[in-house]
Amino acid sequence: MRPYDLRCEYIVNPLGIDVKAPRFYWKLHAGLERGAMQGVRRIQVADNALFDPVYWDSGEEADGESAHVVYAGPELKARTRYWWRVQAWDARSFSDGWSEAAWFETGLMDEGWAAHWISAEKSGEDEICPALRREFAVNGAVRSARVYATAKGLYRLWLNGKPVGDWLFTPGWTVYRKRLQYQVYDVTELLRSGGNALGAMLGRGWYSGDIGWQEKPESGLPPRELLLELHIDYADGGEQVITTDSEWKAADSPLLYSAIYHGEQYDARLELPGWNEPGSPGGCWRDVSVAPEGGRGVVVAQDGLPVRRIEEIAPKAVLRTNDGETVLDMGQNMVGFVRFHVSGNAGDRVVLKHFEVLDKDNNVYFANLRRARQTVEYTLKSGGEEIFEPFFSFQGFQYVMIAEWPGEPDISMFTGVVVHSDMEQTGRFSTADGMINQLQHNIVWGQKGNFLDVPTDCPQRDERLGWTGDAQVFISTACFNYLAAPFYTKWLRDMAAEQTDEGGIPFVVPAAVTGDSSSAWGDAATVCPWTVYEYYGDTRLLEECYPMMKRWVGYIRAQGQDEYLWNTGFHFGDWLGLDAGGDSYVGATSRDLIATAFYALSARLVAQAAAILGHDDDAEEYGKLYKRVKRAFRDEFVTPNGRLACPTQTAQVLGLHFDLLNKPSRKRAANTLKELIDERKGHLSTGFVGTPYLCHALTDNGLHSEACALVMKKDYPSWLYPITKGATTMWEHWDCIKPDGSFWSPDMNSFNHYAYGSIGDWLYRNILGIAPDASRPGFQNVRVNPLPCGEFTEARGSFVSLYGEINVAWKLAEGRFELNLTVPVNATATVILPGASKRGVTEGGRPLGEAEGISDIARSDGGVAFTAGSGTYKFEYGYKG
Ligand code: BGC
Repeated sequence: MRPYDLRCEYIVNPLGIDVKAPRFYWKLHAGLERGAMQGVRRIQVADNALFDPVYWDSGEEADGESAHVVYAGPELKARTRYWWRVQAWDARSFSDGWSEAAWFETGLMDEGWAAHWISAEKSGEDEICPALRREFAVNGAVRSARVYATAKGLYRLWLNGKPVGDWLFTPGWTVYRKRLQYQVYDVTELLRSGGNALGAMLGRGWYSGDIGWQEKPESGLPPRELLLELHIDYADGGEQVITTDSEWKAADSPLLYSAIYHGEQYDARLELPGWNEPGSPGGCWRDVSVAPEGGRGVVVAQDGLPVRRIEEIAPKAVLRTNDGETVLDMGQNMVGFVRFHVSGNAGDRVVLKHFEVLDKDNNVYFANLRRARQTVEYTLKSGGEEIFEPFFSFQGFQYVMIAEWPGEPDISMFTGVVVHSDMEQTGRFSTADGMINQLQHNIVWGQKGNFLDVPTDCPQRDERLGWTGDAQVFISTACFNYLAAPFYTKWLRDMAAEQTDEGGIPFVVPAAVTGDSSSAWGDAATVCPWTVYEYYGDTRLLEECYPMMKRWVGYIRAQGQDEYLWNTGFHFGDWLGLDAGGDSYVGATSRDLIATAFYALSARLVAQAAAILGHDDDAEEYGKLYKRVKRAFRDEFVTPNGRLACPTQTAQVLGLHFDLLNKPSRKRAANTLKELIDERKGHLSTGFVGTPYLCHALTDNGLHSEACALVMKKDYPSWLYPITKGATTMWEHWDCIKPDGSFWSPDMNSFNHYAYGSIGDWLYRNILGIAPDASRPGFQNVRVNPLPCGEFTEARGSFVSLYGEINVAWKLAEGRFELNLTVPVNATATVILPGASKRGVTEGGRPLGEAEGISDIARSDGGVAFTAGSGTYKFEYGYKG
């Protein structure tokens, strides 16, 4: 047994965590042997790489856990790097010795900030981004140096002319009045002996910039201030601390304007040579104002993932539109920015306008961006090649109109820089069908584009907000595609911070626009923590979110005319559902029905969470509440004959998928659902609420071939229709581009909206065939149950869980079914082989019953079920479909 891929708080070697009892994770190698499980483990933590002395030694503990293992040593000191290593023994007491060492480093913990907030404001209205600088001397050999920094606004830092770190959009978007993250950087290598200089640039960003369509800053917060401490530890044991204080100077930077939605204006002629290096920089430097109060208050350690430049795209073509505009085609709807190289004379200008689609006449189309200008303007200084990329804005685009450019632009002068939260990709799959593979591609790109620090609805128009409903429907797909636990941890903390005194959850988190609570949107408060628990086994986050979950259900309980029904107030309903007809934005499904269905779901999730967390009284109370709500749902929405009173696809889907119906009604609802799809010639009519569960409701109720047929549909409305129109991301509507080539109303027509990408969850579970098992969460046990059907005759892919990589490759050909499966060490799989009989299956050429690592073989619905321990398997049999 050899541990590898050591992580602390989900991250490899995290720098700057303020968690008092951090959690450890490792994966295990165990040779070729099957069914390998950890039996005993030992962890050592030290503040030195030699583990001498050791700060904490857990001793050998009989414990099978290799994820979320909690540090239980003496109190951790602030600003300290701790090394840790782990040793694991299998059931036969065999071990390969210590793992390689990993580390984590604490941030400021409970230490106060010596620094004061500084600002360069001349007037709060000024749009020019300020530059700040401070010189200092280093005298002696430096052992290590760290910068701790945050800003009200967005900041970039340089030390001696070099960028500090590669994070973008720091300090991230949080509920600033309650939580403002700081970041930590290792700057040891950037310091030099003698004169040094720190430089910072500040933008408004989400903090005090133009955010939301209500045309006002988030909450009238003061603009652009910096808080920073540089701690230098000398080899001789001395320490020096440089802080934001009155020693800093400020000047106007060449960044004349920067706004998340609108882009940037940069005049290179105004650059201040050497401004972030020691010496005498050009320009006019003035005193900064220093706030009387120090740091802390709402400042917290970074708890999400950094946003970075993740990948680069070379443009596909430079086009000429019918109207004669020059346009760059990136070949992919992407989020981030364009980096360009340009040469010309001082005063020449570059103007780039980013947009998503060309219109029917092959011309530029900006209308769906609404107020967002997405325009980057650059004025050249001349004197050779100049390179620029935006600082504090991002654009959502596939096309870029080159509105001004000195000379002829050449494709090689442009690079698309894709920017998002730096999540590790965990899920991948492909099938034999190219369009389904493109659908998965589009789902993943929808996630990339809308996971820029906050889960957003869209990345291009004047919105880009943390819409709770969208996040809630997409989270289970998101957690397949990427390791998203830290990303959601941060956002859920913001959600809790925004919860109202009555327990309501705003429409968007952070609450950049005002609005009440809506069912299916506010239920993100229960669905999201629960989903993170299912995929990652994160009981700590569940515990942390538990009060919010409970208070949300309490809020609902106080809403309706009756304690068990939610039939009052505003709801988005089955947003963008098609069955209401006309220009309606909302489907025909009764909003009361949707609200009460989600009430039941949330009550059940609170009951489940309570049981896991050991809140037994609550588990009982919310379990009862769930049953009462379910009964109320039936009394109100199911006719005496057992038929759902609301004849829409979404109503049937919710009744089925949320388990709100009794057996006879289930049958009727499934039949009705099928009829309703047939009535539309095999098409869906669901919106945001029904779509995520539609195929699940079919597959789980004996209608898998109907689900597959629906997914394979290529005409409107369907998941594949946008692909026939060239989509490279998920669309907001089923027909952002209509069959005749015209567009949906520009008021609301995003070509990069992940909500309908929620079909990814169904594809992973039923086509690739892997799913989490809430009874052993975090894929400690994985459910493997591919369901071939129609054109779905093969799939291959993988998912990297906290325990390691799960691999699945299956194929049905000429009546033979073959499944290759790898289960990671210290995990198990519950495998259900479809269309198999107990005696017909072989593994590695031998009868299943004789295969090593296999146990609990039983007949199951539609096949044979068994447990497989870790290892690699090859199952084969004659398929009886
Ligand atoms: C957003 C959504 C959101 C909706 C609320 C839209 O403007 O883009 O995706 O959930 O408003 O109904």
